[in-house]
Amino acid sequence: MNQYQIAIDGPAASGKSTVAKLVAKKLGACYVNTGSMYRAVALAALNAGINPASEPDKIAASLASWNIESVPDGEGSTSVVLNGVPIPAAALRTPEVSNAASDVAKIPAVRAYMLELQRACRSLGLIIMEGRDIGTVVLPDATAKFFVTASPEERARRRLAQTGEVAEGATLASVAAEIARRDFQDSHRAIAPLKPAEDAETIVTDGMTPEQVADRIITTFEQKRK
Ligand code: C5P
Repeated sequence: MNQYQIAIDGPAASGKSTVAKLVAKKLGACYVNTGSMYRAVALAALNAGINPASEPDKIAASLASWNIESVPDGEGSTSVVLNGVPIPAAALRTPEVSNAASDVAKIPAVRAYMLELQRACRSLGLIIMEGRDIGTVVLPDATAKFFVTASPEERARRRLAQTGEVAEGATLASVAAEIARRDFQDSHRAIAPLKPAEDAETIVTDGMTPEQVADRIITTFEQKRK
C-alpha cells in the first residue's frame, strides 16, 4: 500500500483545511482533519454537561464510554462518528465547540486517545493529515511536513467569512481576540503544543490563493517522495 503522509500544522483559521482538502483532491489522497476529533470530544463533554475547562478528570473518566471513530466518507475525506452516529460537520464548527476543543486538547488522557486514533489512519494509504502536532508528534516520519500560517488580520478575516463558525454579532476584533486566545492556549500547553516541526516548510499564505499553496505543497512532496 502507498503509505506516504503529508503533515500540515498551523494555527486556527490559517486556511490549512481548505488547502489540505485541495491537496488531497489533486493527489487522490485521503484527507484527515484531526481538529474534528478533538471537537468531537468537546461536543460529547458539552452534551454530557461536563465543563471542558474545569472538569478534566470527568472527561478523562468518560473517554472510555465515548467511542470516537474517524471513518472514510467515500469522498476522499473522513468523518467523525461518535458512538456509532456520524456527527454533522456544522455541529463541530460552532464557536463554543472551538473553545471547548482547545480546553479538552490539554488533557493528557485525551491526547493519548487521539494519538492512537490518528496513527491508525496511516492504514488509509496516502493521507494528508492536518492539525497542530502532526509533524512533531503524530507522524514524525511523515514524507513531507508543512506549517501553514497567515497574519492575525488575515486569519480573522477568513474566520469571519465562515458562516456558522463565529458568534452572533461577531466583529473582526472579537474574532481576532478569540483566535489569539485559542492559539496562545494551543501553543503554551505542556503536551504536544502547536509549533512547527524542525523539518517543516513554513508557508505564510497572505496574498496566496489556496491553489498556489496546494501546488507548493505538492511540489515539495513530489521531490521528497523520490
Ligand atoms: O483545527 P481545529 O481548529 O478544528 O482544532 C480545534 C482545536 O483542537 C485546536 O484549537 C486545538 O486545541 C485542538 N487540536 C490539537 N491538536 C491537533 C488538532 C487540533 O490540539 N492535532
